[in-house]
Parts: sequence; structure tokens; C-alpha cells
Amino acid sequence: MQNQTTTLLVIGAGPGGYVAAIRAGQLGVPTVLVEADRLGGTCLNIGCIPSKALIHAADEFDRVRHLAEGDGSGVAMGIRTKSPRIDIAQTVGWKDAIVTRLTGGVGALLKKHGVTVLKGWARILDGKTVEVQGEGEPVRVSCQHLLLACGSEPVELPFMPFGGKVWSATEALSPASVPQRLVVVGAGYIGLELGTAYRKLGAEVSVVEALDRILPNYDEELTRPVAAALKRLGVHLHLATKVLGMNAAGDAVLVRNADDAESEIAADAVLVAVGRRPRVSGWELERLQLDMQGAFIKVDDRCATSMRAVYAIGDLTGEPMLAHRAMAQGEMVAELVAGKVRRFDPVAIPAVCFTDPEVVVVGKCPPEAGPECLSATFPFAANGRALTLSAAEGFVRVVARRDDHRIVGWQAVGRGVAELCTAFSHSIEMGALLEDVAGTIHAHPTLGEAVQEAALRALGHALHV
Ligand code: FAD
Ligand code: NAD
Repeated sequence: MQNQTTTLLVIGAGPGGYVAAIRAGQLGVPTVLVEADRLGGTCLNIGCIPSKALIHAADEFDRVRHLAEGDGSGVAMGIRTKSPRIDIAQTVGWKDAIVTRLTGGVGALLKKHGVTVLKGWARILDGKTVEVQGEGEPVRVSCQHLLLACGSEPVELPFMPFGGKVWSATEALSPASVPQRLVVVGAGYIGLELGTAYRKLGAEVSVVEALDRILPNYDEELTRPVAAALKRLGVHLHLATKVLGMNAAGDAVLVRNADDAESEIAADAVLVAVGRRPRVSGWELERLQLDMQGAFIKVDDRCATSMRAVYAIGDLTGEPMLAHRAMAQGEMVAELVAGKVRRFDPVAIPAVCFTDPEVVVVGKCPPEAGPECLSATFPFAANGRALTLSAAEGFVRVVARRDDHRIVGWQAVGRGVAELCTAFSHSIEMGALLEDVAGTIHAHPTLGEAVQEAALRALGHALHV
């Protein structure tokens, strides 16, 4: 058994853990980072990045195919092309190369900032000692500060465990071939992002959702254009429908609808995307007897757990389980360990769903903002740039206080709106008023003009609607 001592020990090299380690290294804090798998965690290897790569490839293929079939906007633009095909093995290879480039970059940054990376599975011995089992003999690491960043794992349906035809997102991101018929269970983030991508790659896609609407975390005004687009794309939506399991032959999914009628949906593969849960078992976390909040580790506004000098961040600590939240928490904990005074107190954490059209939510939506707030929308149908991009669907919505016009929320649905998210977050974090956004010159022609116009409309004098 080897022994090591360090100031900060981080378990898990996802976006939470690796960012914490880089920042701690920058601040001169001796840091050890333990990772059982690949640097970058869920986000870089089997989450955000590979999914967005696959979605982009599917978008490109779909666009070219529509031009070839002559039923899309390409014909109106005078574009003609012939019989496109997709080599999915090559697509997966291209996606993997992006992942490798990014995870390699993380490794280089950790090295540059003097972080010691230990490859192996960490087990807690106590609040200051962890044992790491890698390929060789185990290493016992003692630390002054322990940071838990073990992330999350997909929820499994007990009657339809992962394996064979039943995929988690991980298998869906590295398919050997595109299944002819894909059944997706869950119309949340993963189900709709990847379900849309598979439809564009040529699969016949059916989505089964237990609730009576898609993306139930977002308000209906925002999700309506997504539902309409799924219908146009030919995705079959089975709402208010329960999955019962695979049929005896293993070639169809048994479902029961709201009227209690049972039926089968033929499936060559089934993507189960019914949520993720924090990874709190398998590494003897229970030895610390930390306070919990439901399934998550309970933390305060410094990401401190109920045990002194033990911190937790990212998906282990609750919703929203998003990479940028994990990164922001990780950076803060590193600064706390280095002696800085910090709190995790964002006004808003943005959320983007990379469907087609995309959906962005930052801050408060009208229902939760309440009667003291007003809201206004500006449609992309009245935005010149959107028309030139054949992306006239959707809108930007602003929510602001009636009394002082302080902006408390932005939402948007439309093609490419993910990139508007930065402007939304800035204005909310900086306490901007409607007048600030309305009085800012926005470049023409851009989708961003719809942001300015939404603010103008909230003030009662939009120019282009
Ligand atoms: P993780 O990224 O899960 O990393 C935890 C790491 O800890 C893992 O590498 C694991 O191997 C390691 N680990 C765990 N236990 C141990 C142990 N005992 N010893 C050693 N190592 C251990 N979020 C977004 O913001 N935007 C997106 O577009 C987005 N898309 C997604 C798409 C998919 C398909 C999925 C599955 C998720 C997506 N997410 C997205 C969510 C995002 O990936 C997570 O919120 C984020 O990765 C959480 O970061 P984390 O650092 O908490 O944990
Ligand atoms: P989710 O919570 O987004 O959606 C799960 C969906 O499954 C919900 O609509 C729920 O009602 C439904 N459901 C639950 N049980 C069901 C059942 N038995 N039968 C049918 N439907 C059922 O979860 P997800 O799509 O698995 O994603 C997990 C998490 O990963 C997200 O919550 C998010 O934190 C993260 N993520 C984020 C992004 C992004 O930021 N763009 C993308 C992918 C994943």
C-alpha cells in the first residue's frame, strides 16, 4: 500500500471535479484528482459533447437529404443534390475524435497546473482518507479537504434493465448501426434530443412519455413549437402512456395508455431516458453519515456538506443536473479551499434543450414570476435574419418586474437560440432593466434583434411587430 498526502483531494473528474482541480492548481493548492474512468466524466465522454456532435451530424444529414428529396426549402433556394448516405461508423469515429481532443485537453490543463491525477476507484475510509484501487497496488491518500464530485448515473427501469436492445444514452451515442425502429422511453432532455437525432438519421422513432406532455419541466408555450416540429418530422408521440416492458419475443415494447388500453410498439432498439440519479453508492460514502436531501448529498451555499472540510458538487448535490452548474460549483470550492470568501449564489442557471427547435430558459418563467411581473414575446417570424435562415418558427420572451422593469427571466424557442443564452444570463446577473436591453444597439440582421424587440415590446413600443 502506497501513501500520499495532499491539501485537496477530489473524487471524480467530471466537469465539477476537473474544474475544481484546475482552479485549485492555479491557486497553488496541492491537489490530487481521482478518476476511475476517463477524464471529463459524463459530460465530455458520454453526455453533453458526444450528444451535441451526434445531433449536429444528424442535422447536417437531414438537411442534405431534404435537399435531395426535393421537398424542403432547398428547392425554393434552387439547390439540387443527389442520394446522400451516412456512414454511421465514421460519424461515431468523428464524434469520438472530438471527445478525445477535449479529454486530452483536460489532461494537459491538469498537468500544466500541477494536479496529480490518480486513475482508479476511490473508496472513502473517513473524512480525510480515501483508498484508490487502480491497476497496481492500492494508494491511500490523506487530505485536509475532501471534494466529492462523483456525478450521476441513468435511472434503470427494473422491468427493462439496460443491456442488449435496451440502451441508455451511452449506447445511443455509439451505435453500430442506426436501428430501423427506435422506441424512446421518456420525453425529457435525452429522449427528445437523441430521439430527434435518430429520426433525422433515418430511424422510425416512437417516444413514450408517462406524463401528458413533452419536456414537462418547461412551460407549454415554449414546448409547443417542439411538439409541432416532432410531428412534422414524423416522430410518433405516445403521451400519458406507461411502459410495461418488452414483449415475450423481445421485438416490441408493451405499453398502456391513459384509457388502460395495452398495445405493442415494434422496436429494434429501446432508449430508456427516464432521468438520472446521483451516484452515491459503491464508494462507501455511507461511512461519512452525511446529511442527505432526498437521494442527493445536502450542501449549503458553499457546497459544504454536514462534515467539516468535506464538500460536494455537481450532480451529486441536486437539480439542475447540468455541467455548467457543476463547473461553477467546482471553481468556487477550489477558491474556498485556497482561503477566498465565496458563495454559490447565481441569480439564474441557464438551461438549454438541444431539440430542433432549441429551447432556452434562464431565470423565471411567467407562471412562477407571478402578478408583479409582466412578460412579452417577439416572434422570429418578424425577424429578418430568421427568415433568411428558414427559421421563422419560435419566439423570444422576456419577463420583468412591473415596478422597476428589472429583468428576471428570458426564454426562447427557435433554431439556434442556444447561443442567445449568454446575453440572457448577462442581463439577469447584471440586474439589467428592460430599458438597458431596449437601448442597446443590436447588430442587423441577427437573431439577437428579437431579444431587443422583446424588451421593446414589454415597454409597449416594439418596432417590427
Ligand atoms: P460527472 O460528469 O458524472 O463525473 C463524475 C465522474 O466521477 C465520472 O467520471 C466517474 O467515473 C467518476 N467517479 C464516480 N465515482 C468514482 C469513484 N468512487 N472513484 C473514482 N471516480 C469516480 N448537461 C449540460 O449542462 N448540457 C448538456 O447539453 C448536457 N447533455 C447531456 C447529455 C447526456 C446524454 C447526458 C447523460 C448528460 C448531459 N448533461 C448535460 C448533464 C451533464 O453531463 C452532467 O450534469 C455533468 O456531467 C455532471 O458533472 P459532475 O462533475 O457532477 O459528474
Ligand atoms: P429528464 O428528467 O429530462 O426526462 C425524463 C422524462 O422521462 C420525463 O419527461 C419523465 O416524465 C419521463 N418518465 C419518467 N419515468 C417514465 C416512465 N416509466 N415511462 C415513461 N416516461 C417516464 O431525464 P433525461 O432525459 O434522462 O436526462 C437526465 C438529465 O440529464 C436531465 O435532467 C438533465 O439534467 C441532464 N441532461 C441535460 C441536457 C441538456 O442540458 N441539454 C441534455 C441531456 C441530459
